[in-house]
Amino acid sequence: MEIKTLVGDYLDAHVYVLKNNGECLIIDCGAKLNKVKEAVGTDRVVGILLTHGHFDHSCYCNEYAETFGCKIFANENIQITMTDSVAIYSEDYSTIDDFSYFEFIKGDRNLSLGNFNISCYYCPGHSICCECYISDNILFSGDVLFENGIGRTDLKNSDKKQMFESLCKLENVKFEKVYSGHGGSSDYAFQMKNIKIFKRFLSREFKE
Ligand SMILES: [Zn+2]
Repeated sequence: MEIKTLVGDYLDAHVYVLKNNGECLIIDCGAKLNKVKEAVGTDRVVGILLTHGHFDHSCYCNEYAETFGCKIFANENIQITMTDSVAIYSEDYSTIDDFSYFEFIKGDRNLSLGNFNISCYYCPGHSICCECYISDNILFSGDVLFENGIGRTDLKNSDKKQMFESLCKLENVKFEKVYSGHGGSSDYAFQMKNIKIFKRFLSREFKE
């Protein structure tokens, strides 16, 4: 599997284009369509995954789905985030209200899209709609895990206790590398240390 990393228009949120034997899977939708088209080339796009509904990750999702003729997979709570002018965190308070291309994920499940097998893990805390995905031993963590930290838990629909529980979940999952929604990538050993540190910080806060 080849992974192309594109930098999005807002807050440098990443779009990942996964390529495997003439097929593509797109993770997050914050980069202009032209950049994504170039990365996809002549491959067939088998699906789009959203890590969560914040505007920097989701803004072009319907445009991609229409262009590539595929479905968007996302946690069922993403509608709560994307239709809320505050919770979506768009610069101009615009919302996304068309979910006709969406197929909603409930809880943890496996997805098979073309050549791609994906394990989905519901990981709320940064927002109520965060979903992490593992394909080929790579964890696409959105804004749950970063190279040097975790996602913010002070936003609308954030929850520190939920973030703590999501970190516990990811601690018990197997992966080799982490590709985050922003910033650099990291590996399993590094993230096990990162998770322990932030679990300690979080538990202090919600227990007080
Ligand atoms: Zn976010």
